[in-house]
Formats: sequence, structure tokens, C-alpha cells
Amino acid sequence: GDTISVKDLAMKMNKSAGELIKKLMGLGVMATINQEVDVETAEILANEFGFEVDIKVDESTYDFIEEIEDDPADLVPRPCVVTVMGHVDHGKTSLLDAIRESNVTASEAGGITQHIGAYQVVHDGKKITFLDTPGHEAFTAMRARGAQVTDIAILVVAADDGVMPQTVEAINHSKAAEVPIIVAINKIDKPDARPERVMQELTEHGLVPEEWGGDTICVPVSAKTREGLENLLEMILLVAEVQELKANPKRLAKGTVIEAELDKGRGPVATVLVQTGTLKIGDSIVAGTAYGKVRAMIDDKGRRVKKAGPSTPVEVLGLSDVPQAGDIFHAVKDDKTAKTISEKRLAKKREEELKATTKVSLDDLFKQI
Ligand code: GDP
Ligand code: MG
Repeated sequence: GDTISVKDLAMKMNKSAGELIKKLMGLGVMATINQEVDVETAEILANEFGFEVDIKVDESTYDFIEEIEDDPADLVPRPCVVTVMGHVDHGKTSLLDAIRESNVTASEAGGITQHIGAYQVVHDGKKITFLDTPGHEAFTAMRARGAQVTDIAILVVAADDGVMPQTVEAINHSKAAEVPIIVAINKIDKPDARPERVMQELTEHGLVPEEWGGDTICVPVSAKTREGLENLLEMILLVAEVQELKANPKRLAKGTVIEAELDKGRGPVATVLVQTGTLKIGDSIVAGTAYGKVRAMIDDKGRRVKKAGPSTPVEVLGLSDVPQAGDIFHAVKDDKTAKTISEKRLAKKREEELKATTKVSLDDLFKQI
């Protein structure tokens, strides 16, 4: 993701790097003058000094697309999309795996080896989509492209370790993105687990537990024994209900690329999250500068599907090229449209790259004189 050094950020605000470092320490982040901080941290820091950061949205992903206005009458409830964040080793992966495994029926069990970076579970008859991506980076990349994919952030904090630097980062990310946080206090099976201490530390970072009169939901869980997982899912549904999440399944699909790679046998494969509309086999799509026709779609259980509606993660085959994580994808009316948009974006991208090169060489020239 994008970063800026403490020194550069200080310069932009006409402050000393020392002042910024002190503020960062107050936020629980240890930094040096040359350290690079991520966009969200920079944003929080700037706000502390009364500045606003203008996160530059990479316009090229939207270019040459006519946005569709939804008729409110077409909007229907959609599942919530959840991201799991937290300090390394606090149990993000274990928790995601435990939730997935607890919710796989016997008939689906074969598909569980399938790993597409996102999955859906059903709790109380309602679907929840979990993004299983390496937290922050994807999050930042997506925001830089103007995409908001997450409705709820689960902050995993190990009960035996407490709030750590990446916990604080995750809090900052979620706050900057205005995504509600549910805290999963994990590893409560451990003898040295101290959930109360975690709650105390969270309070110091502005997350006051409901039990103590605040509005932060904290759920004690164990990814190991699976204690508390049901409760966690219930809380997710509770928060989602308040959000009244809706989308229009009738329109051409639009969403975000969660991850993408070049598969030796299958060519470019993109895991996308459909956010609105319904993606169908045979649809013409553009994703960043890649385009193509949806040749096949595979869901999180490894099954081939013919269509994917709002909040559904799905693997898409048939793109000309490998898009980038965070790229927006659009289904468009026909192949020709997809190809034309892709060509225009590529031409624009080349032009911008050329401009950048020209600028560098002019600077060099200047130096020589
Ligand atoms: P991540 O880095 O946040 O994805 O953490 P992992 O899921 O890889 O977990 C880190 C370590 O903690 C692993 O050794 C897990 O087995 C262990 N772990 C995760 N959750 C629990 C839990 O609830 N209880 C116990 N006792 N260990 C856990
Ligand atoms: Mg992990």
C-alpha cells in the first residue's frame, strides 16, 4: 500500500518530526523520523494536528464507465461483508478457519480445501461474507481506489497478549474507514488469558466495552475450543441489521477484485466480491485494465456456479489479464464495450507513465546544468 515518511508528513504540515513522533507514541505507534507510515495512520495523525488528508482515488479504475443509478425500489437486503484484523499471531487465521469449519455441512466438506480468499457462512438463516485477505494491505489498496468493501471489522485481540502495535493500527484503519468494530477477545482457553486487561487496554484507545457503558461489543472467544463463536456470529448479524445493507441484484454487476493470479492451467483467475448487481456466466467485464467474458465461476465451496449476487465472493475465469487486488470490476453491456474501455484505460495509463518518465528526465537535465 501507499506510505509516507514521518519526515515528509511533518514537512507538509509545517510541524517538526519530533512533534509527530510524540503524537504517534500517544497512539501506541513507535516511529523514527525516516519511518514510513501507512495512509490510515497518516490520516489519523494529520487529524490530530487539525489537517485533513485527501486520499487520492485512482480515477483510472472508474474511467470510461457510466455509473448506473439504482431505482430505490430495486434495492433488497444483502449479506454483510466482514474483515478480520489484528496483531500477528493473535489468531486471525485460526478464527476464520474455525468459523468456516463450524459452518460447513457434511455435503460441502469436500470443498473446504478450496481457498479463494473469501467465504460465506449461514447463521440463523442469514448469510455472512468473510474476507480472508491479509488485512491491512488489501484494505488500504482498496480504499486508495475508492472501494469500500467491508461493512464490519472484527478486531482479534489475544487475551494472553493484549493490545499490541498492529491492534492499534487496525483500530486506526477501521476508524478512518468508518467501519464499525466488533472485538473478538481470542484465546480465552489459555490459563494466562486476561480478558479484563484487554478491555482496559481497548478503553485507552477509545473502544469502551458495552459492559462498561461504552458502545464497543467485545466477545470472548477461543478459535481452539470454538467457545463463543456462535455469539460472535450473532453479534455480527446484530450490527449488520442496524446497517440495513442493501443492493440491487437486477443490474449489471459491480464489485471489487479481492485477489488475482495467473494460474498455469486456467489463465488469469480473479477472486471478486460482487457488491451490487448479479454477475453471470457470459457477462462481459472490465477489471482495471483487464477485460474479458466470464467463462466460468467457482464459489467458496469449489462448486461451479452460473451467477453470483450481491455480497457473494466468487472466482472468475476468462479475463485477458491479471487485475490488481483492489481493482473495481464492472459488467458491461457487451464484449466490444469491455474491450474499448480496457483499451482506453491502457492508453491513458501509458500516457501517464510516459509523462512520469519525461518529468524525471527533465529533473536530471536540471541537475546537470
Ligand atoms: P494470525 O497471525 O493472527 O493469523 O494467528 P494464527 O491464527 O496463525 O494463530 C497464531 C497461533 O495462535 C497459532 O499457533 C494458533 O494455533 C494459536 N491460536 C489461535 N487461536 C487460539 C486459541 O483460541 N487458543 C489457543 N490456545 N491458541 C490459539
Ligand atoms: Mg494469519
